[in-house]
Amino acid sequence: MLSLQDSVRVLPGVGDKRLEALKDLGITTINDLLFHFPFRYEDMSVRHLDELIDQDKVTLKGVVLTTPVISFYGGKKNRLSFKMAIDEHIIGVYFFNQHYLKSRIVQGEEVVVFGKWEEKKQAILGMKLITPEKNTSQTFDAVYHVNKSIKQQTIIQLVKYALDEYEDLIMETMPKTLLQKYNFISLKQAIRAMHFPNSLQEHHIAKQRMIYQELFEYQFKLSQLKKERYTTETMPIAYDNQRIKAFVKQIPFELTNAQKRVSNDICRDLLSPFAMNRLLQGDVGSGKTVVASIGILAAIDAGYQVALMVPTEILAQQHFQTLSALLDKQGVRTVLLTSSTKLADRKVYLQQLEQGDVDLVIGTHALIQNDVYFKHLGLVIIDEQHRFGVMQRQLLKNKASVNNVLYMTATPIPRTLTMSMYGEMDVSIIDELPKGRQVVQTKWAKVESFDKVLDFTKKQIEQGRQAYFIAPLIEESQESDLQSAQALYDTIQDYYQGTITMALLHGKMKVQEKEDIMNNFSAGNIQLLVSTTVIEVGVNVPNATVMIIHDAERFGLAQLHQLRGRVGRGSYQSYCVLIASPKTQQGKERMKIMCESNDGFYLSQKDLEMRGGGDAFGAKQSGMPLLKCADLIRDVNVWQQVIEDVRLFLKDDTNKEYLLLKERLFDKMELV
Ligand code: ADP
Ligand code: MG
Repeated sequence: MLSLQDSVRVLPGVGDKRLEALKDLGITTINDLLFHFPFRYEDMSVRHLDELIDQDKVTLKGVVLTTPVISFYGGKKNRLSFKMAIDEHIIGVYFFNQHYLKSRIVQGEEVVVFGKWEEKKQAILGMKLITPEKNTSQTFDAVYHVNKSIKQQTIIQLVKYALDEYEDLIMETMPKTLLQKYNFISLKQAIRAMHFPNSLQEHHIAKQRMIYQELFEYQFKLSQLKKERYTTETMPIAYDNQRIKAFVKQIPFELTNAQKRVSNDICRDLLSPFAMNRLLQGDVGSGKTVVASIGILAAIDAGYQVALMVPTEILAQQHFQTLSALLDKQGVRTVLLTSSTKLADRKVYLQQLEQGDVDLVIGTHALIQNDVYFKHLGLVIIDEQHRFGVMQRQLLKNKASVNNVLYMTATPIPRTLTMSMYGEMDVSIIDELPKGRQVVQTKWAKVESFDKVLDFTKKQIEQGRQAYFIAPLIEESQESDLQSAQALYDTIQDYYQGTITMALLHGKMKVQEKEDIMNNFSAGNIQLLVSTTVIEVGVNVPNATVMIIHDAERFGLAQLHQLRGRVGRGSYQSYCVLIASPKTQQGKERMKIMCESNDGFYLSQKDLEMRGGGDAFGAKQSGMPLLKCADLIRDVNVWQQVIEDVRLFLKDDTNKEYLLLKERLFDKMELV
């Protein structure tokens, strides 16, 4: 009995060696092989001479002018050559080590050659000789991912065998209603057309189906995971609501409605007997920290510990200050644990954490070391979550006694993507900035007007404000025309002639040095800070009103927006100047968009539409599923549709198709 789960060993020509080679490609069963789709197709249609580009692989058709000549050299090597006429032109044709083709090349007859075009020699380096009658219409040859031990041709042959023998076993996996709704071809037809399309059109139709199917199955799994989470019980975190209310009352400002709403989301999660798995999204400056503090206090009030992990020392330091200021009065015992924590202190902290003598620990990767234990960790918070890998997040989660995780991000992911990308999480969005927050005025300037920018900055500083200047690189390198932070620092210092207190901050500095500088900047002792992008996340100095970004075209929209978010944090009007001379249309477009909008979500949507910006707003971050045909960004519209379809489909979970799908996909339930 044949089965799609048969080992590829059953195919002709597959012995131990090929079995290994196929395994390296992730192929062990017939089914794997059938789903090993080509990643592109070679266009085998005949081309005109005037559309050729040097070194392109092309198909040419002509008449054989001269009898092929074979020359042998260097042992077994040989070269077959002849001249071919294409209209009025004469080109050379060479085949290396394929002298056996000679009998098929007859003077005066038509011939079709696929190979590499050599512009200088006006010759084609033949790779394949094609029988003319086969090449009358457009043809496409599949190109597969291969490795050293297995050739294209072998894969093609194996897929052919597999299709011929097993094709009839390919069962439909998509629900009937959806097949009908979209008029999809059957899976069987689609798989054949993915490998051996007769036309571009046919390939397109097959691919559409496969894209839909992949997204459908992905979305199905997400929904399933979410559903499971709601049925996995954990200890509720039972805090005293009156106390939390009292705490919120004494915060020195009124929470925005959005902050209230998401705080409620978090508290509700804590109280519920199901694990919290929530993503808190809020643009820079939207006030996520204070929201976190509410969750933190609730967990601690209920007798649990809380761990807050952040990607950088500076950010850890800053959260430590902010949260201590908010929570010390509440009797919360907080420690800071990073890689620069002194060994003796670290030892004490670890002991306190293990014995439950510390309530809140704020730290970097230092928190996920093996020797860090908690007495009863009840809430894990991960800030700038996309900066951490899946494993790192998991490591911290594993230390918890009660599995509640809150992820925070200032990377605004387009709404269209959020729901789907984080489908297994609940999502809370802070979509409102605190009252009285000024909109940062953004201007785009050419390098030539840098003096004007400096004069403007000086005026701001004279009014008591502070400024950031961002340069992308730290050391002057010859390959790169990026202005180094050091050179920028020197230029600015020359210009101001010592009238302004400046400092330079870069990634290669010692942590202590960085901290000293940031503390001095916070305290107002430093008026102007020249920095590399190390200040990117989290830095909060409300008195800073000027952000000048050099070589702005080098940054993605997401990063520019993050950097700009360092100003406009207080009540003063703030400014951002993008110094850039972009060469591409898209580069110019991006500068314009930055000047137009302060809304991270709008920017992320634009970024999505423009794509290729190099930073698809977190969409490329870890946690993305491995999809073969579909692309979550390119196919976002299909995905939208899929989400709706899955929702409807799941409404009826007595549906036989649903049960079948669940069974089939169940062992592949993990997403990343
Ligand atoms: P982010 O969301 O970027 O992490 P923060 O939590 O650092 O933002 O908050 C940015 C600044 O806004 C902080 O100085 C904070 O004290 C202040 N802030 C937060 N919420 C409010 C509010 N509701 N009203 C006024 N200021 C607020
Ligand atoms: Mg923050």
